[in-house]
Amino acid sequence: MATAAAWLSGCQSSIRAGDIPGPVWPHEGDPGAPAPLPPFPSNPPATVTRPPTGVDVAPLGNVIPRRAWTNAGIISSRAYEMNGINRLTVHHEGNTFTGSADQASIARKLANIRQGHINRRPEPFADIGYHYIIDPAGRIWEGRPLKWQGAHVEKNNEHNLGVMLMGNFDEQRPTTAQLRSLESFVVAQMRLYNISVNRLYTHRELKATACPGRNLQSWMLAARSPAGTFARA
Ligand SMILES: [Zn+2]
Repeated sequence: MATAAAWLSGCQSSIRAGDIPGPVWPHEGDPGAPAPLPPFPSNPPATVTRPPTGVDVAPLGNVIPRRAWTNAGIISSRAYEMNGINRLTVHHEGNTFTGSADQASIARKLANIRQGHINRRPEPFADIGYHYIIDPAGRIWEGRPLKWQGAHVEKNNEHNLGVMLMGNFDEQRPTTAQLRSLESFVVAQMRLYNISVNRLYTHRELKATACPGRNLQSWMLAARSPAGTFARA
C-alpha cells in the first residue's frame, strides 16, 4: 500500500521545499537540463457546439465517460449539488507521472485516486474530487458528475468546475497533448457556462498550495494574459 498515501495526498499537498529537477517525459527527449516550457500551443480554436439554452450539461463528445473507469456511484450523502457553474479551477495531481499512459493504465489510476479520495481522513470525499481529468496522452476523462460540487478547493467548491492534469508540474512539464486538450476544453467550458477569464483559477490562487506546480502555473498565467487564448476566448 505504499502508493496509497501518495494518492491520498493528491493535489492537496503543501508547498514542497525541495527543488530537485524531476524526470521529463520520456518521449520529449530532454536530457534533463532545465528546458524551456513547451511552446504555447497554437492549435486552432476549439469548435464548440453550444447546447440548447438552459441545458446544464457539458459537451461530452471528446470526453471519455466515467463508466470507462468505474461502475461506482458517488456517495451522495457526502455531496452537495452543484446548481450551476460560474468558475473553473485547474489542478495537477501532485504525483509524478510514471509508467504507461495507455487507456487501461489510466483507468486504473483514476480508480485508485477515487479510492484515496473516498477514504480520506478526517474528511472522506463523496467520490473522486475532480470533474475532469486530463491524462498525459491528452485524453479527457469524466470524473465526478457535474450534478455534484467537486472536492478540489477547500471551502471554494461552490459552482467551481475542477479540472486536474495528471503529473506533478513542479517536477515535470505537462505534455503538449495535455496542454492542447486543456486549452480547447477550457475554452469550450468558458463558452458553455459563460465563464470569464477572471473566473479561471489555479488551485494556488484560492488556497496556499503548490498545485498546479510551477510549470502549469506559468502556462496558465500566459493563457490568461491579454494575448493568451483564454483572454481572447
Ligand atoms: Zn489542486
